[in-house]
Amino acid sequence: MANIEVDLDACVGCGTCESLCPSTFQLQDGKSYVIGDGSDCDLEEVVNSCPTSAITVEGIGSAERKQV
Ligand code: SF4
Repeated sequence: MANIEVDLDACVGCGTCESLCPSTFQLQDGKSYVIGDGSDCDLEEVVNSCPTSAITVEGIGSAERKQV
């Protein structure tokens, strides 16, 4: 199961993640919260679509770049 995190300081509440993957991301008070495991979504697309790179998914995108 993917480990999904949203950096709430970086999130600007644009709603892109929620519209791409409503089963996993839900906007509350202008921030996106993880409510699911992303199993029925293209998490790579969601990660790459976030305008502030606030979403981190283990093994995808920014999570990979952290590896030394
Ligand atoms: S796509 Fe990124 S900035 Fe937009 S609501 Fe989701 S986490 Fe926040």
